[in-house]
Amino acid sequence: MQPFSSLALTGALLNNLASLGYESMTPIQAESLPIILTGKDVIAQAKTGSGKTVAFGLALLNRLDPNIYTTQALVLCPTRELAEQVSQVLRQLARLIPNVKVLNLSGGLPMRAQTDSLKHGAHIIVGTPGRVFKMLENKTLNLKNLQRLVLDEADRMLDMGFYDAINDIISFCPIDRQTLLFSATYPAEIKKLAQQFLKDPKRIIVEEKALTLDIEQVFYALDNQKNKYALLKTLLLHHQPESTLIFCNTKEQTVQLAKMLAHDKFSAIALNGDMEQADRDVAVLRFKNKSCSILVATDVAARGLDIEALPAVINFDLAYECDVHTHRIGRTGRAGNKGLAISLTTQSDSERLTAIETALMQPLTWGEVSALDKSKQAVMLPTMQTLYLSAGKKDKIRPGDILGSLTKELGLSAESIGKIDVGPLYTYVAIQCKHATAALNHFNHGKLKGRKINARLLK
Ligand code: ADP
Ligand code: MG
Repeated sequence: MQPFSSLALTGALLNNLASLGYESMTPIQAESLPIILTGKDVIAQAKTGSGKTVAFGLALLNRLDPNIYTTQALVLCPTRELAEQVSQVLRQLARLIPNVKVLNLSGGLPMRAQTDSLKHGAHIIVGTPGRVFKMLENKTLNLKNLQRLVLDEADRMLDMGFYDAINDIISFCPIDRQTLLFSATYPAEIKKLAQQFLKDPKRIIVEEKALTLDIEQVFYALDNQKNKYALLKTLLLHHQPESTLIFCNTKEQTVQLAKMLAHDKFSAIALNGDMEQADRDVAVLRFKNKSCSILVATDVAARGLDIEALPAVINFDLAYECDVHTHRIGRTGRAGNKGLAISLTTQSDSERLTAIETALMQPLTWGEVSALDKSKQAVMLPTMQTLYLSAGKKDKIRPGDILGSLTKELGLSAESIGKIDVGPLYTYVAIQCKHATAALNHFNHGKLKGRKINARLLK
């Protein structure tokens, strides 16, 4: 275990890391940071959750000069959610460096506000390729003084068809820069991207040895695709997981499956790239705050979301690539809890199954449908519901205001209130189902910070 203090980092960064409770480096940080800090281009490959954001975050902040109001670093991410997560981590790491501005330029956010923020200068831009390119093209963003470029989750960006956008963005960047590429997998297209845009990069790979140890993987063989849904229901009833992430290979399948589950009284929502950004945000929020127990997602939509340590992951469709499969199931069984990863397979998956078996270096475990308990008729429903409030950060709402209103005015106990997410314009409060109606009426008939607001329960 190597301490961060073995690195040539500024005092402000080191003190802040200590105050954040980060004592030693994760393996990918220990291997990549000494090289990144010399200014070399790096390709870093490690699984999700291995600490890649802190690795590049420290590299960007260590050399940043906050007194110069130009964009010195750009981080490209596949999705707006991820860009938001990365922005938050960067701001947290920069806490002890005065006046560092980190700006999120992602699609789905109003361009006008972003243009206004840019006028005041931003040291670090984090964004999605489409929006960043648009702002370069209309000249609201200038990267002439860029020193460092990070391609985060590069494999997913390519999966999402961002190759050309990345290519175009790089044509706006100075040739003399440091480029860092982070990826969980290393397919041929990533290699091509790296050859084109990185200078003599050092490639660092951190193996995922222990990854599957804490995961119970079970495969079910079906003779027909059509029988998958019935088995899925039986599995959910048998295991009764509090939260389940279900993967499908197509957007259409996510919608169809979520509908069928909802029709059968399961608490399920779809998450895919065709949905409006706002709907995607709410889907993820409800899954995370436990007011919805099943999220049916495509890889692209679920990628990079900080939803880990799930009790169960179910592959309704087997992933096309072994890497993707490993990545999917890696979301369960974190932090010492044994996770459950179930895959529903048919004859057409046989080649992929062989690849998975080879990677696992042990025979697959096949589940017996007859061993599943078919007596349970009802599924465990979430204990929480999400309450939407029509006020947010813009109205100076803080989580404490909501908590205070519900505990002091309505008299609820703090345990009956879950996660409170205050967004720019709205707030979402997870609340125990048995208190949901009371809370709804409380906000609809009373006031919050002296203002009338609207409340409604999300279904
Ligand atoms: P990745 O980008 O590799 O998927 P993240 O950067 O999102 O992973 O990090 C995953 C989690 O690990 C985060 O919650 C982060 O706060 C935590 N983390 C990162 N570095 C350290 C560290 N050195 N010590 C402890 N926790 C860490
Ligand atoms: Mg990451």
